Amino acid sequence: MYFFKNEFIPAHDVHISPNDRGYYFGDGIYEVFRVYHGELYECDAHMDRLERTALEVKLTLPYSREQFVNILRELISRNSLTEGTVYLQITRGEASRAHPFPQTAEPVTLAYCNEVPRPLATIQHGIRAVTQPDIRWLRCDLKTLNLLPNVLAKQAALDRGVQEVILHREGIVTECSASNLMIVSQGELLTHPANNLILHGITRLVVLRIARSLSIPVREEAFTTDALLQADEAFITGTTMEITPVVEIDGRPIAGGTPGPIARQLQAEFERTFTK
Ligand code: PLP
Repeated sequence: MYFFKNEFIPAHDVHISPNDRGYYFGDGIYEVFRVYHGELYECDAHMDRLERTALEVKLTLPYSREQFVNILRELISRNSLTEGTVYLQITRGEASRAHPFPQTAEPVTLAYCNEVPRPLATIQHGIRAVTQPDIRWLRCDLKTLNLLPNVLAKQAALDRGVQEVILHREGIVTECSASNLMIVSQGELLTHPANNLILHGITRLVVLRIARSLSIPVREEAFTTDALLQADEAFITGTTMEITPVVEIDGRPIAGGTPGPIARQLQAEFERTFTK
């Protein structure tokens, strides 16, 4: 069961108009929520980010926060989802193709559930990554549908036989194609500051909160690709990937090619945040 344009309908009854601005221009915004035990994880943080993105791209949200949350909960219930994700997208609506905002178009909301198990194998064993220039625009903090550079980056990683790409702007590491990146160096946890060059990941936020509660020194400061390659540990954070160690970068082993102790400690604490 999907939610589309104000109603719950079967997937095959969802008909997207060719005039939807999301389709023409990527003129829309989205969120991906994690569902653990049938409940939305960090719902408020995701709603905060959705509202902030909407404001920044001048898209008037069609529902209040309470209405959105009720829709998503109803969706979870109708699909009997216990573990997975909920995708929520709002486009600026349907109008003949022209760049200016349409005067009359209504925003179009689409939401659906995915049954996605936790990626336990990669959480345990880690992934391999390669570095690549970050060619995205200067508002990577906005969660919009314009994901072609992220798609190209991810595919480039897969084409090179690894699972993720670590992006950098002239040697300064930003984030990954669909996750944030953290390293451990001399006992400190380092990650790019939450500015316009990265998505302000909800998992990033939770992990930083956990690290501080464990008295692990945290620095939200940019670091270079050289520092990355010399790091004691590296891991990515994201709604679907949770905390996934990176055990090899550009063919070089990180932390001896196995997940490091800080990553393990954070993973254990992270699990507690949703374990009943
Ligand atoms: N960075 C990018 C580019 C992403 O697309 C995502 C998630 O999709 C993240 C970071 C991680 O954000 P979150 O932890 O909110 O899933």
